[in-house]
Amino acid sequence: MALLQELRGLPLINSGVKKTRTVCGYCGVGCSVDILSKDDRIIGVQPAMDGPANLGALCVKGQFAYDYVHHPDRLTKPLVRREDGKLHETTWEEALQVAADGFRNVEQKYGRHAIYGVSSGRTPTEADYLMQKFIRAGFGTHNIDNCSRA
Ligand code: SF4
Repeated sequence: MALLQELRGLPLINSGVKKTRTVCGYCGVGCSVDILSKDDRIIGVQPAMDGPANLGALCVKGQFAYDYVHHPDRLTKPLVRREDGKLHETTWEEALQVAADGFRNVEQKYGRHAIYGVSSGRTPTEADYLMQKFIRAGFGTHNIDNCSRA
């Protein structure tokens, strides 16, 4: 009951619940949120009433989709698919080399326009810039888009 009251915005005195102001990372709107955590685990998200982009509102993703953070299936290491058709844990060096080889193989076999890049709506502008540079300068195609339509 006490935790429920805390989550509804009542004071978090002596509850062990910590509020951390941040920005939702799901899309480019940039809603301000307060992450509620206890014992290093996220237990809830509150919309920031003074958030300039959201004024106390959140969409369903920003409000409720935080369980992935502690989910046991979350990927924590790079994986590559080997000859047996299964994914295996590997180093970042090998994973990046496999990805680079894959791009080059597709380009050589099907041509540069067979490469298509899709940047995440969760990335900052600078990363989006690098992604389009990677596709345009690296492969010579304008096949680049993003998923910023939340
Ligand atoms: S609109 Fe939803 S997904 Fe986008 S920043 Fe706001 S809460 Fe997050």
